[in-house]
Amino acid sequence: MTVAAPTLTKVPNYINGRWAESRAGEWIDVTNPATGETIAQTPLSDAAEVDAAVAAAAAAFPEWRRTPPEDRIQPLFRLKQLLEDHVDELSRIITQENGKTFTEAKAEFRRAIENVEVACGTPMMMQGYNLEDVARGIDEMMIRQPLGVVAAIVPFNFPGMIPFWFLPYAIATGNTFVLKPSERVPLTMRRTFELLDQTGLPKGVVNLVNGGKAVVNALLDHPKVRAISFVGSTPVAKYVYARAGANGKRAQCQGGAKNHVIVLPDADMQMATQIINDSAFGCAGQRCLAVSVAVTIGEAQKTFRDSITEAAASLKVGNGLEQGVQMGPVISPQSKSRVESLIAVGEKQGAKILLDGRNSKIPKYESGNFVKPTILDDVPATSELADTEIFGPVLSLIHANDMDEALAFLERSPYGNQASLFTSSGAAARRFRYEAPAGNIGINIGVAAPMAYFPFSGWKDSFFGILHGQGRDSIEFYTEEKVVIERWAKEHSRKF
Ligand code: NAD
Repeated sequence: MTVAAPTLTKVPNYINGRWAESRAGEWIDVTNPATGETIAQTPLSDAAEVDAAVAAAAAAFPEWRRTPPEDRIQPLFRLKQLLEDHVDELSRIITQENGKTFTEAKAEFRRAIENVEVACGTPMMMQGYNLEDVARGIDEMMIRQPLGVVAAIVPFNFPGMIPFWFLPYAIATGNTFVLKPSERVPLTMRRTFELLDQTGLPKGVVNLVNGGKAVVNALLDHPKVRAISFVGSTPVAKYVYARAGANGKRAQCQGGAKNHVIVLPDADMQMATQIINDSAFGCAGQRCLAVSVAVTIGEAQKTFRDSITEAAASLKVGNGLEQGVQMGPVISPQSKSRVESLIAVGEKQGAKILLDGRNSKIPKYESGNFVKPTILDDVPATSELADTEIFGPVLSLIHANDMDEALAFLERSPYGNQASLFTSSGAAARRFRYEAPAGNIGINIGVAAPMAYFPFSGWKDSFFGILHGQGRDSIEFYTEEKVVIERWAKEHSRKF
């Protein structure tokens, strides 16, 4: 077992089964968003370090691919147990580097573990199909084979869960893997890779390279990397998709979001308020499935506006490691000022501020990046703000006369990650499910996050590619289909 130094330190890379300090000339501070303290430093590793990781993964591939799928999933069973045993410790690390509350971090890690569990079904999920006698005495089959070296590039907002949309499926299907975490939150994966190191995976099967754009470009350009999984903002997702494509790699790139919820007057208003409150302000609004715009219809305008304002105002904001805290800070001072300036833009464009979370100071945590829940009413549907991803604890309210108008508003949005409806009408729910232009749909659900055995969908500018992360889509993404047609002469079988 090799263990990375657990104290305030330079975050190492994990290449070919060994921890190694990066030779990077440039390092960036990892900061606790609640306290402002520097807790580590991430190296901005270079192309040579990426090359070493890819070379290790490429060297491990021939033997790993020949390892029976049943044997390939055994380290994942061990990993599941190790993650269960360390879930509190891992969740504390997430809170310290990302800012979300300990409860949110734990819920996040459950989704990571769920993906490990699902990938353990790979011997079933990876099967192809066949047909005897496609012509007399001729049989045909489709088999799935791994690609080789594959890589994932992930964002800051789910440091524990998002790498697991990819890693377990990639290796269970026989690929070898390189991960680049977000440079802002490298510590969760550092600890996770220490656990991976204890699972008995052969060296080189999983590798970790910390860094930023240079690492991403080196992965995108490396001839031995066959597939790229990306999650992050839309401009970078588009860039990664284009460059991976130009280099002949397959790619799945999840981008940003601006999620809408429609609230009908027949909704259970108490339930809708509680759930939408959690969706909009949980994780300080830094979830790609956070509700960002609530479109109210008819009387819901007044009832929902009043109830959500009261609920949001009562949320306890603070350091997510403290008991009773319901919402933490945003990731960085830059993010705090971006969110606050977007609130000002909304006000300038005609929105009324019902709840203003700007300039928040939390006692004992004056250096934290806190923005309290903010609600903007009457945001003009055609304003720039209505289409801009804020990625902070800000909910915009818009009123529509009917479902046609509300759906037209969703249609105009450049994003399509999630759309939700709150209603007690089955007919309205069916229409919404049928027509809403988004990949993840919630009916009386605030965060419609697909379980690991469903694809994490996403449409429009929220996703570039065909096959999504998680479940069966992952198996398809990480394998190539091979079709074999066979004929054996009768005389040959008579010989034996
Ligand atoms: P980001 O795009 O800034 O960074 C994502 C990754 O790309 C990081 O690893 C980063 O190092 C790298 N990167 C950043 N800029 C780059 C560049 N110019 N060239 C190459 N690589 C670059 O995203 P973020 O701020 O870490 O995460 C927040 C964003 O991610 C939000 O837009 C959110 O909606 C989105 N997100 C989407 C999903 C989804 O499922 N669709 C899930 C989570 C987060």
